[in-house]
Amino acid sequence: MSQYEKVTPELLETLKAAVSGRVKTGADINADYSHDEMPIYGMATPEAVVEAHSTKEVAAVMKLCNEHHVPVTPRGAGTGLTGGAVAICGGVLLSTAKMNRILGYDEDNMMVTVQAGVLFSDLSADAEKHGFFYPPDPGEKFATLGGNASTNAGGMRAVKYGTTRDYVRAMTVVLPTGEVIHLGAPVSKSSSGYSLLHLMIGSEGTLGIITELTLKLLPMPKEIISLVVLYENLKDCISTVPKLMRANLHPQALEFMEHDIIKVSENYLGKKTFPQKYEGKDVGAYLLVSFEGEDDDQLTDIIEKASEVVLEAGALDVLVADTPQLKKDAWAARSTFLDAIDSSTKLVDECDVVVPVSKIPDYLTCVKEIAKDYDFSIQDFGHAGDGNLHIYCCSNDMEVQEFNRQVANFMRKAYAKATEMGGLISGEHGIGCGKLDYLEEMAGPVKMRLMRGIKKVFDPNGILNPGKVCCKL
Ligand SMILES: Cc1cc2nc3c(=O)[nH]c(=O)nc-3n(C[C@H](O)[C@H](O)[C@H](O)COP(=O)(O)OP(=O)(O)OC[C@H]3O[C@@H](n4cnc5c(N)ncnc54)[C@H](O)[C@@H]3O)c2cc1C
Repeated sequence: MSQYEKVTPELLETLKAAVSGRVKTGADINADYSHDEMPIYGMATPEAVVEAHSTKEVAAVMKLCNEHHVPVTPRGAGTGLTGGAVAICGGVLLSTAKMNRILGYDEDNMMVTVQAGVLFSDLSADAEKHGFFYPPDPGEKFATLGGNASTNAGGMRAVKYGTTRDYVRAMTVVLPTGEVIHLGAPVSKSSSGYSLLHLMIGSEGTLGIITELTLKLLPMPKEIISLVVLYENLKDCISTVPKLMRANLHPQALEFMEHDIIKVSENYLGKKTFPQKYEGKDVGAYLLVSFEGEDDDQLTDIIEKASEVVLEAGALDVLVADTPQLKKDAWAARSTFLDAIDSSTKLVDECDVVVPVSKIPDYLTCVKEIAKDYDFSIQDFGHAGDGNLHIYCCSNDMEVQEFNRQVANFMRKAYAKATEMGGLISGEHGIGCGKLDYLEEMAGPVKMRLMRGIKKVFDPNGILNPGKVCCKL
């Protein structure tokens, strides 16, 4: 028997009163709300979708649901890749999508305060108009900033600027009980007790609902240039990375990709940007690197130094993406990997492990060896600068149950290998419900006990996003 209550007609009426009628049920619920971008982890339609406009409304909804023992799943844009925003226990899906106002800039302290439903793309563009730069750069630009903070989203600029965590100064949170708290402060240092702010970041909507965020901004970089570096194989490619990092050139992004995934992506885009051969040799791997500079002269200097480093380290050639179109094409090919895989594949599952940078080639060699025992194929790419790898299991002809069975078996081995090499099971996508079993295995009983203890303190009735991160159903 479920430990949760259903959304009764009476509760529905009180919920409607709390949010000026913005509640949908039954056939009025858009099918998109039943899944995120990885439906393979399970689809479920909530009993009600509640659209909140303010912290006050979120607090009222949480208070009601807590009193009635009804589960609540917070949802931003639903672009997550672990099933985190799916209402697997039914109940209420609480959408922050309409909490989309940029509340104001503190230009002197270089911060901005936003509602949690503001899209990453909207803040980026608006900050630029104000002469500021919001450095995190997750691949999916239409995710909400609340979702980014809840998953500690990373992205391609993490190698230079870190992840979302490094930009959250303060936040307003509604606890599962409906209490409202303010965490952090518009300051740049804190040694003021346990950091509840940092506990909330990456908690995937299991500890509280973030309603507002104060984010750190930086000055806009003046000039950016990208290089495409060609290698015969992945080992040469990755072995360049520490040398490039030690050269004091501070790349803004440093991505690696193998020949196969470039082919999939270029076929999807219908455009060829990455050379397949160099002086008769097959190109097996690429580094795509961006650098920032104050002016053309500084960029020229950086290009020269970077080229020297990579060529000495065994690169075949260096191409400078020195026109806006070339830069756009090179990054477009990288940015569409997931869409390209999705469009050409019936069944997809993925893992987003992170390993020490120097271990990338050995790890991928092991994973490819492990994958030989299974009927699906794999595609991989990743953030070379921070060791975060995206490995996709793909099949067009397997039955879904058999695919899931084989993938689970493969993932277990792949995660165990990552852990053995000093890595972790997720670098940026999170755990949701899709990776919970693996987290349990890799983290071990003591850490799981601590996580569940924390969950219990925040959410005594277990109504917020049940079945995610550390609490199995
Ligand atoms: C094509 C593609 C590329 C991607 N690239 C990247 C990438 O480069 N880096 C990266 O890190 N991720 C990436 N992602 C994953 C995804 O975009 C991020 O996880 C993003 O942060 C999710 O934001 P969202 O608003 O869509 O959240 P949702 O998917 O709606 O929710 C994600 C989780 O956060 C919780 N949540 C959402 N809003 C709140 C809130 N206000 N308060 C509390 N909990 C909340 C949900 O309950 C859920 O557990 C990519 C996804 C796609 C489809």
